[in-house]
Amino acid sequence: MSIIHKLSPALAQKIAAGEVVTRPESVVKELIENALDANPTVLTVVIKQAGRALIQVIDDGDGMTREDAELCVERHATSKLNAFDDLDTLHTYGFRGEALAAIASVSQFELRTRRRTDELGTFIKIEGSIKREVRSEACDEGTAVYVRNLFFNVPARRKFMKSEATEFKHIVDTVSRAALANLHVRFVLVSDHDMVFDLPAYRTLPERVEQIFGGKLREALLPVESVTQKFHLHGFISAPSFVKRVRTEQLFFVNNRTVHSSKGLAFAVTNAYEHLVEKGAFPSCFLFIDIDPSLIDVNVHPQKLEVKFEDERAIIDEIRRTLASVLQKATTQSASEGAMAPEMVMPANINQTDRARLRFPEYGKAEGGAPIPSFEKIAVGKPPVQGSNSHTIERMFGKSPQDLFGNTSTRLIPNEKSLNESTGGEPLPQSSQAERSALRSEVLAEKPLLWQLHNKYIFCQIKSGLMIVDQHVAHERILYEKILASLENGNPQSQELLFPQAVELLAKEVATIRELHDQLERLGFHLRFFGGTSVVIDAVPADVKSGSEESILREMLESFEEYDRLGTFSQREALAAGFSCRAAIKSGDKLGQQEMHALIEQLFQTRMPYVCPHGRPIVIKLTTDELDRRFGRTPVTQSMN
Ligand code: ADP
Ligand code: MG
Repeated sequence: MSIIHKLSPALAQKIAAGEVVTRPESVVKELIENALDANPTVLTVVIKQAGRALIQVIDDGDGMTREDAELCVERHATSKLNAFDDLDTLHTYGFRGEALAAIASVSQFELRTRRRTDELGTFIKIEGSIKREVRSEACDEGTAVYVRNLFFNVPARRKFMKSEATEFKHIVDTVSRAALANLHVRFVLVSDHDMVFDLPAYRTLPERVEQIFGGKLREALLPVESVTQKFHLHGFISAPSFVKRVRTEQLFFVNNRTVHSSKGLAFAVTNAYEHLVEKGAFPSCFLFIDIDPSLIDVNVHPQKLEVKFEDERAIIDEIRRTLASVLQKATTQSASEGAMAPEMVMPANINQTDRARLRFPEYGKAEGGAPIPSFEKIAVGKPPVQGSNSHTIERMFGKSPQDLFGNTSTRLIPNEKSLNESTGGEPLPQSSQAERSALRSEVLAEKPLLWQLHNKYIFCQIKSGLMIVDQHVAHERILYEKILASLENGNPQSQELLFPQAVELLAKEVATIRELHDQLERLGFHLRFFGGTSVVIDAVPADVKSGSEESILREMLESFEEYDRLGTFSQREALAAGFSCRAAIKSGDKLGQQEMHALIEQLFQTRMPYVCPHGRPIVIKLTTDELDRRFGRTPVTQSMN
């Protein structure tokens, strides 16, 4: 008897579906693509429980005859391709004829469809590949697909579905991408009765960008266009003044098809911004490449998320060249408008208002995956110094903190466990535990005179020489531990706002807030949902300066996402890191003696006073011995004074 047998068609289909339908978001993507291929004017997506309970995609497009409707759910049934060569002239999103069959095999599936010219439409009901019902009935023009209880018959998949908030974010991302590539279609997204967005048709790309990503990005957009013999490159990029810490706003479309994870294209963009933004900062871009379909292969990824170019090099070069020239023009323009080169040294007596106006960039914040400065004005003339603390110190003392500390860890401090285990901070190779506590009591007891350098570093005389503290990261460490503590014991210091503030957030930000609601409460934020994407701030943590409630909330959510993505932080730590880095005093803030003392005092009460949550050093010690050596004071010269 043979041990090999053929799988039943239903089982084979269920297994094959695993390639196409990996999560609710992939169902949304396939159904949107089908709807877009049918020439709609309005496309509505309704989801419940982030697509677990229901995904409904409705279009007012071409619709299908009863015959086609019955066929469309069969495997390898498509109206878009007849022969393999047709791929060379493909102008539709779909071509494999497997999405509907796949979706219907792992859900409770219903389809209603009617062509404009037909009087009656067709209703089809399928449950896990089994056709339950087919009938003619009156229905709206176009097609509506209902996908209920996705993976109801694949328990393993259902179990491994990500959290609702994560899934929701992916769905918002997918609908957004489709909306950016199809301006002529009105897109509506409804989630559990909330209108997430309703994007009117025939808007310009910047208008769509604004509706999805916010007005600030729109203001920063620069148009890009270039026509070569083989392709047409167009779209928008952000001025270097607008950067993010994550790459999520770099979108590429090839023949209107969104491509994920194209290293080549992303590289071209990074390259064009070289010297204009710091390392680890990501400008936004929405770039469209229109190209003869015969010069690309769209059939290289099961979910059609990648595209292979016949000549990727040419495209990368063109993107780099075009973007560089757009950026160059923009920079020259802002130079004539009087922008200030960020490497210019700020006069010591400049006052706070001037400083705020000039927005002196904070160097060094990009190091170790830490936050990125948002340059209000872009660099002109010489490229900005790729500044970092280590460079600054190197210039001052000819040594990097790594050298001074031995091999100071610049990795991220990954988890609470290591934080708890470590009683006195990261080891400073040249100083023992005893030395560290001696240093601590010395600074706390003797209250030495403190001196602030460029409103950024605090200098403090200690027995063995000199201690330099980076004020921003010091405060960040203090807040980080404080926040972690209140997240643990749920006893936050919170301040009620006299006038609760209504803020309009982006859909994905609201999703993050929903996901983190309990933790945000523990942190001291009292937030109320106000339907759709409005949130009301009733209270904020005590450390939030008045007037900055909204911006801190926003920036914290943004940082949270970044830390969360890194995967080395627990959610709690990511939240604490996101908050503390946003709420901490900035480099550039002038501090008085009392404030500096308070800062150092609180710093030495933390568990790890030497390393900030991102692993950057907070304190650098420079011993008198070291100074002596550098000044060439040998024991002999010393005795001569
Ligand atoms: P593909 O899109 O690769 O052709 P699908 O399984 O996604 O495969 O869809 C099968 C066929 O069903 C399509 O080729 C199209 O003819 C038809 N179809 C699917 N969705 C719609 C829709 N929303 N409107 C009109 N026709 C549709
Ligand atoms: Mg399809």
